[in-house]
Amino acid sequence: MDAKSTRLAHMGRPASGWANTPIVKGSTYLFDNLAQWRGTRKQRETQRVLSYGARGNETVYALEDAVTELEGGYRSKLFPTGLAAIASTLLACLKAGDHVLVSEGVYEPVKRLCATQLVHYGISYSYFSAHDADWQRHLRPETRMVYAESPGSLLYDMLDLPGMAQVCRARGILLCADNTWGSGLAYQPLALGCDISVAAATKYLGGHSDVMMGSVTTGPAHFDAIENVSINLGQTVAAEDAFLVLRGLRTLELRMQRHAQSALGVATWLAGQPAIKSVFHPALPSDRNHALWRRDASGSNGLLTVEFNPQLSRAQIEEAVDQMRLFGIGSSWGGYESLVLPVDPACTRFAAQAAAPGYLLRLHIGLEDPADLKKDLDSLLDALPSLSQQQAIA
Ligand SMILES: *Cc1c(COP(=O)(O)O)cnc(C)c1O
Repeated sequence: MDAKSTRLAHMGRPASGWANTPIVKGSTYLFDNLAQWRGTRKQRETQRVLSYGARGNETVYALEDAVTELEGGYRSKLFPTGLAAIASTLLACLKAGDHVLVSEGVYEPVKRLCATQLVHYGISYSYFSAHDADWQRHLRPETRMVYAESPGSLLYDMLDLPGMAQVCRARGILLCADNTWGSGLAYQPLALGCDISVAAATKYLGGHSDVMMGSVTTGPAHFDAIENVSINLGQTVAAEDAFLVLRGLRTLELRMQRHAQSALGVATWLAGQPAIKSVFHPALPSDRNHALWRRDASGSNGLLTVEFNPQLSRAQIEEAVDQMRLFGIGSSWGGYESLVLPVDPACTRFAAQAAAPGYLLRLHIGLEDPADLKKDLDSLLDALPSLSQQQAIA
């Protein structure tokens, strides 16, 4: 089989004609006669056929196919945001009385979704820690799904997906993974044994901070449930947006390589700075997830989180962050540009620990020259009081 980079240049393209998939717009699709209309409505129960705008069109199909190939699945369904993909998947697979076990490092809005939405439908949830060797004790007789984000948000804790898949399969429990971090390139949950892979294409697939999109990819057994929920909840995506994501994924491998290379360089450098207590980035050999990352991932990305020396105050650090020149302050990541945001320790595994961590800052290392990014980070560190001074004051 061709390499991923080669396939990225060819997936989701028309078999002939336009080199690039054109944007197709439409709501109503016309038929030659009633028999054809009736036949298509029957056919669409089991096959992907053009019938109505909400069910997709050629542009959307092309992206579905590309995502399926990238994730190594049977078929994919697209949703207007990553969160819509996650919410739809949970609603598709869970019913009243079911329990879902969720990994602790999950994208924060998923916790809100569990607490303020799933409970309305009589679905219960609880959390398990990525570093809990005895995580299985959290499974209940009514557990229907394990929802795993690996590496998790903010601290990038990794899960032993192959091991978890074995346990889940034996007990008839679905294993669903959020693959936004790996975006089908650096990590492949379906190949590691998961039943469903969801992702925010808003991040690296789109890659240019200008489009929102979510995807769900499954094996043959679970696709119908996902398609059904997308129909019932009227979830569909615009052809322009599908086009932007298709355009983004042509350069996915090139971009992610650069993000990963620059992030590892920055992470290594930051780890040696006196103001920094720890650096979280699974490709860093000192990271506690490094062994699992080596085993299960085939690459990395631009995300890293730093913990400042606890002697530095929040006010001192935030004042310095406000002065940064190249790192933008804003949500999301996976675009071409560098970003910075504070991390609330209450949203991480630190919440369960007695000792509060130092100030946590998440960085997304963009495609800028890493030397310039280091200069910007260096000016952040320079703006902080030196630690020897701090100790003298203390
Ligand atoms: C951003 C993100 C999402 C949600 O994606 P949106 O497109 O912003 O809704 C889901 N999971 C993870 C891990 C994310 O980082």
